[in-house]
Amino acid sequence: MTMGSVLAQCPDCGRDLPGDRRYVMWCRACEWNVDPTPAVRSEEPAWRLVREQKLMDALANGRVAGPERSVGAFLLSLPVLLVPLPGLLGGLALLAFYRPLWFSIPFAAIAFTITAIFRPRIKRLPEGAHAVTREQAPQLYDVLDRLATETGTPKLAGVTVTTEPHIAIDRIGWRFRRVLQLGLPTWTVLAAQERYAVLAHAIYDDQRGTHDRVLGAAQHILSELNATVQPGALDEAGEWTLRRSEGVDYIANYSTGDQILHGYLVKIGNAVFGTPIRWYRRLLLKLDLTGRQRREYAIDRRVAELAGSEPTARSLERVLLAGTCYRALERAVRFERGGDPLEVLRRTAAEIPEHEFVRQVRVDQLRNGRADADHPPTWRRTHLLRGNPTPTTSVHAPAKDDELTVAARAATADLRGRD
Ligand SMILES: [Zn+2]
Ligand SMILES: [Zn+2]
Repeated sequence: MTMGSVLAQCPDCGRDLPGDRRYVMWCRACEWNVDPTPAVRSEEPAWRLVREQKLMDALANGRVAGPERSVGAFLLSLPVLLVPLPGLLGGLALLAFYRPLWFSIPFAAIAFTITAIFRPRIKRLPEGAHAVTREQAPQLYDVLDRLATETGTPKLAGVTVTTEPHIAIDRIGWRFRRVLQLGLPTWTVLAAQERYAVLAHAIYDDQRGTHDRVLGAAQHILSELNATVQPGALDEAGEWTLRRSEGVDYIANYSTGDQILHGYLVKIGNAVFGTPIRWYRRLLLKLDLTGRQRREYAIDRRVAELAGSEPTARSLERVLLAGTCYRALERAVRFERGGDPLEVLRRTAAEIPEHEFVRQVRVDQLRNGRADADHPPTWRRTHLLRGNPTPTTSVHAPAKDDELTVAARAATADLRGRD
């Protein structure tokens, strides 16, 4: 057994429970109390689970070949991209030709709102992202440049540090500059080789072609449409502000009569369009799912060839500890004031005992957890990586973070400001 003293006996099987009172007590032998908050189990449709199992079995048996992009999903996405057009034209026509105006204005407002939601949008750096320059972090940039060469992609335009968990490349601004966002709570739980694996995966994820862009845009339009016709999507108050998380902010004022009308419109909209919209969205997802996951597994395999299957698999598991590190950072910000945020994260990551790490990996499997909707469940990915092992190589990212100190302090100061 690992470190720690025996605290109690397992109520189910009577074995000793070694551990640490700061973490969840659970039994590795019979899994007693492995997941004290099981309410958050995922509710994924049965067809999806069956498909994912089938794909994993096929890959485990070496049947790797298969389409990575669905032509059907691509063709069905194209007409969706035209959806905003009738909204714009319809709204203008209503205002120009339909009288009385008090009747046509609310309809036109809804038509314009729908169009506004789909207007071309540029991504900006999120609040609390702090740039790390080449001069500040020559070692990190050196690794990224070598990875760019290795993967046949242009060099990244920049790196930012955040206190959010995710590590990914975003395309920022009108020039679509490729910027790496380095989530500190995740970065600090990773060893040097695991860091390399995560960076490599992020670079591969960023290599999106027309297929992904068209499908992504169509899925986005369909989700927004669905949200628009969903009852309760808009507030009932007479004067309201609706802030959308993706950066579309708009304010609309309605008088009471229009409110009632608006309520009816939403109900009619949902009854007439709600079901077909959801059906279409599901169809696209179904057509695209296997190909998309095939590509993700192929990326895992390529990363495993660069770094080795074990660091690659372990990197997927270690990131599960990012939440624990984030909470420690938040507590430090609230109570300690000052101190080096990177030191807090490093200490927390180092202190997490093995039995807690194993527990979080098992809980993630019980919940069928995944990095995001595009990725297969993490446990399936690690299962395939370890089922087809490749040797661990010597490639690695910097293990020390002194290069990030300045940006990390700035990002943490923002966290303090948000209190
Ligand atoms: Zn037990
Ligand atoms: Zn990926």
